[in-house]
Amino acid sequence: MRAVVFEEFGKPLEVREVPDPVAAHDGAVVRVEATGLCRSDWHGWMGHDSGITLPHVPGHELSGVIESVGGDVANWRPGDRVTVPFICACGRCAACARGAQQVCERQEQPGFTHWGSFAEYVPVHHADANLVALPETMSFATAASLGCRFATAFRAVVGQGRVRPGEGVAVHGCGGGGRSAGVVSAGGGVPGVGLACAPRWLV
Ligand SMILES: [Zn+2]
Ligand SMILES: [Zn+2]
Repeated sequence: MRAVVFEEFGKPLEVREVPDPVAAHDGAVVRVEATGLCRSDWHGWMGHDSGITLPHVPGHELSGVIESVGGDVANWRPGDRVTVPFICACGRCAACARGAQQVCERQEQPGFTHWGSFAEYVPVHHADANLVALPETMSFATAASLGCRFATAFRAVVGQGRVRPGEGVAVHGCGGGGRSAGVVSAGGGVPGVGLACAPRWLV
């Protein structure tokens, strides 16, 4: 397959042929239809993430169609339209058991702990614990934005901030996460919440 590869941190990336990924016994290989570009990809490229080994293929905001699954995968089959959360979980540890996969003790991220979605195909481990089905009406581009920036923003506004209708939300920094917090706050998650988003948004 073709993939975007870097051999050294901070040095130019190259599109080249690399071996196709193979699904683990409980994993899947997804044919990438859309992938986001995130500040976290920049941190990985610059060498700020100790989990990355070289050479490396970045990319963690992805959506696509399942190409193949391992023999132990129960819930997915080739052809299914899917995305994944930024934090891919093991599905078996104590954190996963209480529904807190985002702090899984053995968490993985495509594009960090293994090769990611700046490629034609990406492996997803523990497929039954991590894949999320896409409605037919949702585009791949929209779906690729959900697992990292929107999931982060939703948890910040709704889960941690516990914002209530009628309250205000100030967003300092309008990158992908900040703008997603704007969408969640202004109606996607908490109807009726006012929003002030620096430097220019005021909803
Ligand atoms: Zn991201
Ligand atoms: Zn876990």
